[in-house]
Amino acid sequence: MSNKKDVLVIGGGIVGICSAYYLWKDGHQVTLLDKGEVGDACSRGNAGLVVPSHFVPLAAPGMIKKGIKWMFNPESPFHIKPSLDPKLISWLWQFYRHTTNEHVENTKIILRDLNMMSRSLFKEFFESSEIDFNFEDKGLLMLYKTDKERKGEEAVAKMAHQIGIEANILSAEEAQALQPGLEIKTIGGVHYPKDAHLNPTEFINKLKDYLVQNGVQVHENTEVTRVRTQGGKVTHAYAGEKEFTADDFVIATGAYTSSLAKDLGVNLPVVSGKGYSITLNNPKHQMTVPSILCEAKIAVTPMADKLRFAGTMEITGQDLSVNQKRFGGLLKAIPDFLPQYPVEETRNNDVWSGLRPCSPDGLPFIGRFGKLKNLIAATGHSMMGVSLGPVTGKLVSEIVNEQQTSLSLTQITPDRYN
Ligand SMILES: Cc1cc2nc3c(=O)[nH]c(=O)nc-3n(C[C@H](O)[C@H](O)[C@H](O)COP(=O)(O)OP(=O)(O)OC[C@H]3O[C@@H](n4cnc5c(N)ncnc54)[C@H](O)[C@@H]3O)c2cc1C
Repeated sequence: MSNKKDVLVIGGGIVGICSAYYLWKDGHQVTLLDKGEVGDACSRGNAGLVVPSHFVPLAAPGMIKKGIKWMFNPESPFHIKPSLDPKLISWLWQFYRHTTNEHVENTKIILRDLNMMSRSLFKEFFESSEIDFNFEDKGLLMLYKTDKERKGEEAVAKMAHQIGIEANILSAEEAQALQPGLEIKTIGGVHYPKDAHLNPTEFINKLKDYLVQNGVQVHENTEVTRVRTQGGKVTHAYAGEKEFTADDFVIATGAYTSSLAKDLGVNLPVVSGKGYSITLNNPKHQMTVPSILCEAKIAVTPMADKLRFAGTMEITGQDLSVNQKRFGGLLKAIPDFLPQYPVEETRNNDVWSGLRPCSPDGLPFIGRFGKLKNLIAATGHSMMGVSLGPVTGKLVSEIVNEQQTSLSLTQITPDRYN
């Protein structure tokens, strides 16, 4: 392409690495910086699900009531640490404002389209000879134990049909039949055949190696602590003694976005939603189709010779420590659904914690800023950063190319809170 640019991508999680890939593929000169190691933050121990089924944002009706109930249970899957931080209060207010049926109606199509396009891009990656990784499209199984949850999941499945997402309501026996290697305790399930899964670390590591071999400059342990702007543009990013310049800058810093955004003088309301996972090596009983244990809000994903359990959402700032009570609650809930996994079986495994970059409306921030013309946001993916990694990268590159984007950016513009 003729309009070749120098692009600096700040942040090497799934979103940053996918952005670097599509920018490189479109002929740009790409530099990727990460304050730690590429792929070592939230993009590492997550459940690895690619989720067209998740077209209902976290900010949905019923969330506030559930959230308040959970606040008083130290073992519940959701918690917000009370705080007088004006940023958190403003975020919570925005979140509350979006917990309406109208918001679900307004966002289901963009969430469907982003996820479906990303799924196709993952498949393209998988089928190309560029990188070799495991991508499995066996769908996602929602499993529930109560009538209340069944009704809620069946309503979502009905909505899915209306917007063209396949969803099959199953009896307990039919759900069990999809999981021949594992005993399931459930009253039924919904299977979304178009969902998929991967091991995010395998994907990111291989993509990083591939990009480095192809001339993308990757600087790890390089934290951008300061930026310079002039004349409505970003001119420099500084990491210690190092100084970086570029034509376009991409901010893909996940849950760590707020401080950099402040330095840039833009408002990106992203708070950290901490979650935990444990991964069993060579599990005695392997799951076939990734599942969500609905009442417990736990995702269970088979990853080749591993089985990963992931869950909880704690809004407690940028603190990665493990709350043993809440983590214990996660472990305790597993055997209610999967009786072959008593707590002892799961307890002695290393716990991973990660910070989801949560936006108040459940939509990512992707696009240029009105205020700083050469700054592009690629953050705020909340519970879907892996799923939306490739589509975000593709959109970022289209934005840099100054071409018509594959999807409209109106609802995901980073200026929507400015
Ligand atoms: C328990 C759990 C389960 C999950 N399951 C799923 C799932 O099944 N499917 C799904 O789609 N999503 C899932 N998610 C969410 C998903 O993990 C995140 O949305 C995604 O990883 C966010 O990617 P990211 O690239 O934006 O952020 P990150 O992976 O956090 O990457 C941001 C990077 O920016 C770097 N950085 C930050 N600030 C700076 C700076 N100033 N200078 C340089 N570098 C900087 C950081 O070091 C980091 O590497 C889950 C999350 C959790 C916690």
